[in-house]
Amino acid sequence: MKYDVIVIGGGHAGIEASLASARMGANTLLITILAEQIGASSCNPAIGGLAKGHLVKEIDAIGGEMGLCTDATGLQFRILNASKGPAVRGSRAQIDMDRYRIYMRDVVLNTANLSVKQEMVDGIVIEDGEIKGVETHLGNIYNASKVIIASGTFLNGLIHIGEKRQQAGRQGEFASISLANQLRDMGFDIGRLKTGTCARIAGESIDFSVMEEQPGDEPPIPFSFRTDRKNFNPEQLPCWVTYTNEKTHQIIESNFYRAPLFSGQIEGIGPRYCPSIEDKINRFSERPRHQVFVEPQTRESNEFYLNGLSTSLPTDVQIEMIRSIKGLENAKIVRFGYAIEYDFIQPTELYHTLESKKIKGLYWAGQVNGTTGYEEAAAQGLMAGINAVLALRGEEPFVLGRDEAYIGVLIDDLVTKGTNEPYRMFTSRAEYRLLLREDNADMRLIKYAEKFGLLDRDFIDKTIYKKRRIQEALEILKDNYSTPTKEFSLILQEMGEQKINDKTAWIDIVARMKEPTKEKLIKLFPQMSKYSDEEMEQILIEAKYARYIQKQKNQIDKMQEMLKVKVPEEFDYSKVHGLSNEIVEKLQKATPPTLFEASRISGITPAAIEIIHIYIKMAQKGKV
Ligand SMILES: Cc1cc2nc3c(=O)[nH]c(=O)nc-3n(C[C@H](O)[C@H](O)[C@H](O)COP(=O)(O)OP(=O)(O)OC[C@H]3O[C@@H](n4cnc5c(N)ncnc54)[C@H](O)[C@@H]3O)c2cc1C
Repeated sequence: MKYDVIVIGGGHAGIEASLASARMGANTLLITILAEQIGASSCNPAIGGLAKGHLVKEIDAIGGEMGLCTDATGLQFRILNASKGPAVRGSRAQIDMDRYRIYMRDVVLNTANLSVKQEMVDGIVIEDGEIKGVETHLGNIYNASKVIIASGTFLNGLIHIGEKRQQAGRQGEFASISLANQLRDMGFDIGRLKTGTCARIAGESIDFSVMEEQPGDEPPIPFSFRTDRKNFNPEQLPCWVTYTNEKTHQIIESNFYRAPLFSGQIEGIGPRYCPSIEDKINRFSERPRHQVFVEPQTRESNEFYLNGLSTSLPTDVQIEMIRSIKGLENAKIVRFGYAIEYDFIQPTELYHTLESKKIKGLYWAGQVNGTTGYEEAAAQGLMAGINAVLALRGEEPFVLGRDEAYIGVLIDDLVTKGTNEPYRMFTSRAEYRLLLREDNADMRLIKYAEKFGLLDRDFIDKTIYKKRRIQEALEILKDNYSTPTKEFSLILQEMGEQKINDKTAWIDIVARMKEPTKEKLIKLFPQMSKYSDEEMEQILIEAKYARYIQKQKNQIDKMQEMLKVKVPEEFDYSKVHGLSNEIVEKLQKATPPTLFEASRISGITPAAIEIIHIYIKMAQKGKV
C-alpha cells in the first residue's frame, strides 16, 4: 500500500508528526505497536514545567494538539516561577494519564487523511539511498517516500529492576529489536541512554494528613491559546509533598551494591537533571532530605506517582525505602519503579528539518534523538511532520531560528551539538528569553500556523487582530508624554509608584513602575481602557521590559547581519584564535561560503561564528 508519509510510533512525537502531516493534506499512516497506548505517558503524569511549558505553547501556536489535550484532561494547573519575570515563568499541569491517552487516540483515529495500524515495524526499505517504505513483523510492506521514526525508548529497550533485566520498550510492552539492529547495521551513529521511573502507590494506603498540600492555581490558566480562558474551570485535585529522611538514605546506601546504576549493569547515561533517588543520595550525600511530590495519576484510579523517587533498586528495597517516608509507612505498591536503557541516534546525523543526512526522506523525532520529555518529543514530531510534507511538495523547509522559538533552540542544539546525555529544555538554553516568552507564543508563531494551514481561519484572524491592537497600544505609549504636574504626581504617589521629574514618555513611566497593573495604567492614561484583559497583559509586559526587549532585538539584527557575511575563498580557520581543533577541522573540510552556512554545521557554536566574524572584519581592515 502506498502512503505519502509513514510515522513509526504513536508516542508524543509520533502523534504530532502524524497529525501535522495529515492536516496538511498528506495521506499519512501511523504504525504503532499498541493502538491502545497512543499518547501514553511513560513516566510522570504532567505536561509542561519550566521551559517545557514554552514548548507546549509553541506547539499549540503552530497548530499541534498537546496543549488542547492537556486542557481537556488536566487535573491541576499551575504557573511555576509566577513571582519571577515573564520570561522564566512556566505553565505546568498534572494530567489524567488515562484520559490524556484516550483523548489523543481518539483525535488520531478521527483525523482525515490519517490511518492507524497496530503493527511493529521490523525494518525500513531503502533503495539508492532513499527511503521507500517500511516492513512490519506481520510481513506487510507499506510504501512511502517519507518515513518518520518516532520510536521513543523502544529501540533495543532493556528494563532494569535490581538484578532483574528484561527486554521491553516500556514496562509491559515489546522492545523494538529488529528495527534497532537494522539501524545499527546501516551505520547510523547509535548510542545508549537511560531513563527511569518511580513506583506507583495505591491512594488508600497513603496518609495525606501528614503531608503538605499543594493546590492548583485559582483561577487555573489553560495551556492552549484556543481554550476559552474565561470559561476554563476544571475541577482541580491537589498534589502532596513529603520528604525522604536519614533512614530512607541509609536503606538506599546500604543497597548501593544491588543498584544496577552502580553495579555496572546499566551502561547508558541517564538524565542529569532528573536523576534516580540512588543517584541523588550518592551525589548529594550531604543533603539530609529530598522532596517527594505525591501526584495523582488519574481522576478515578486513586493511584499516585512519587515524583522525585525514580529508581531501579530491587523490589524489596523499593518497599523498604518508600515505607520509611512520612505518610507512606503503609504504602501499597501498585507498580514498581524501573530504569530503561535504549538506543538513540546521535542527532548530528540530522539536518535542521530532522531529515537524515544519510537517507533521503527518512526523518527522526522525539526521545530517539537523544531528548527526554514529552514536550521535547512533541515539538520535534510537529517539525518533522511539517517538513516531511513540505519536502513532498518540493517546498522550502521549515526551520525555526533560535531567535524565533524554543523549538528552534532545541533542534539547533541537537543537530549542531549532538548530545551524550538525555537532553531536556531549559530557559537558560535560549539566548533571547525576553522575546521568546510563553505568553506571546501565539503572536510569535501564528504566521506559520497560517502558512501551513494548521489552525482555523477564525483563530488566526483573532490572533492577528490581537497582535495589531497590542502594537497600536505600544505606539500610543511611545508617542505620548506626561508632564510632572502636581495632579499626576499625586496619582503616582497614591499608587506607590515613583513620581516623574521631567516630561516623560508613557512607556517609560510604565517601565519604571514597580508593579504595573491594568488598573494603574487606565487611571494614568484613560485611553488604555479600550484594551481587553488579554491584550493588557501583553501591553504591560512589553512596556515594562521595552528597553531590554529592544536590546535583544538589536542583538538579533546584529547576528543576522553577521550571518550574511561571506567567508573569503581559501580562508584559513587555523589562524583564528579561540577556535577548537575540532571546529577548525570541520570548517576547513566544509568550506562554507557564508557564516550562515558555517553556523548550520554540527558543532559550530554561535560563539565560534562571532570569533570568525571578528577575524574576517579585522582581516578586511588589514589588521591581521
Ligand atoms: C521508564 C521511563 C521513564 C521516563 N522518565 C522520564 C522522566 O523522568 N522525565 C521525562 O521528561 N521523560 C521521561 N521519560 C521519557 C518520556 O516518556 C519520553 O520523553 C516521551 O514519551 C518521548 O516521546 P516519544 O514520542 O519520543 O516516544 P514514546 O512516548 O516512547 O513513544 C514511542 C512510540 O513508538 C512506538 N514504537 C516503537 N518502536 C516501534 C516500532 N518498531 N514499530 C511501531 N511502533 C513502534 C511505541 O509503541 C510507542 O508508541 C521516561 C520514559 C520511560 C520509558
